[in-house]
Amino acid sequence: MGHVFCIANQKGGVGKTTTAVNLAAATAQRDRRVLLVDLDPQGNATMGCGIEKRDLERSVYELLLGEAAFDDVVRRSEEAGFDVLPANRALSGAEIELVNLPEREHRLRCALEQVSSRYDYVFIDCPPSLNMLTLNAFCAADGIIIPMQCEYFALEGVADLVATVKRIHAEKNPRLRMLSVLRVMFDPRITLQQQVSEQLSRHFGDRVYETIIPRNVRLAEAPSYGQPGIVYDRSSKGARAYTAFADEMLRRLEGAKA
Ligand code: ADP
Ligand code: MG
Repeated sequence: MGHVFCIANQKGGVGKTTTAVNLAAATAQRDRRVLLVDLDPQGNATMGCGIEKRDLERSVYELLLGEAAFDDVVRRSEEAGFDVLPANRALSGAEIELVNLPEREHRLRCALEQVSSRYDYVFIDCPPSLNMLTLNAFCAADGIIIPMQCEYFALEGVADLVATVKRIHAEKNPRLRMLSVLRVMFDPRITLQQQVSEQLSRHFGDRVYETIIPRNVRLAEAPSYGQPGIVYDRSSKGARAYTAFADEMLRRLEGAKA
């Protein structure tokens, strides 16, 4: 199996989807075989890859419930250069329906294991909560990337996430080892953001990526064109930062090869 990363933070609007979509695109541009899993019923990652969430015949929902095969669900985002397991509102029902199924927190892992030889990297865009869907993501992953804004309460709530990851590592998924932090939507002109950024470095040490993603309007515009920011305007500051982030991640995982 290739590397499987969750992009998670139980807060909404912190840059999870933007990170998932752009990291997937930047990794694909480095000629790695990439799958992006949209695990948020809002379907923002799906739309951000140019796939219309309202037109889906089957989605990751049917895959999790065992009602559809991987190949019946997976879609190709041609422009972005990777495969997508898309999602829409139907997925919100999975939360309740999964509870009664066997292996309820391992359904995504089982589905991904069947196609493990096809992908070098799998990125999972998580919903903004620690629910059964997020649990499925954590049970399938070997790493978690937490996007964080450098704001005053940044660390608040992250303790819960870290505790959950530790518990899952101990009880359900021993492969889940890496927890890393990506600083996003950074504005260097704001002194407080610089201070919090340094605080995050001290707190998480080398688990904080060196690359910092700036606040950049091109990244925010891209989803309305159904494109990852790095495809929409590859020379923008935001696009260059996500490319640098993908390169840093590849360097950490693959060493000199990358
Ligand atoms: P989440 O998935 O955590 O809810 P999103 O990735 O959807 O967060 O981001 C929330 C909003 O912020 C979106 O409108 C998105 O376009 C915007 N955004 C995300 N990252 C950046 C950035 N680096 N610069 C500017 N806007 C951003
Ligand atoms: Mg999102």
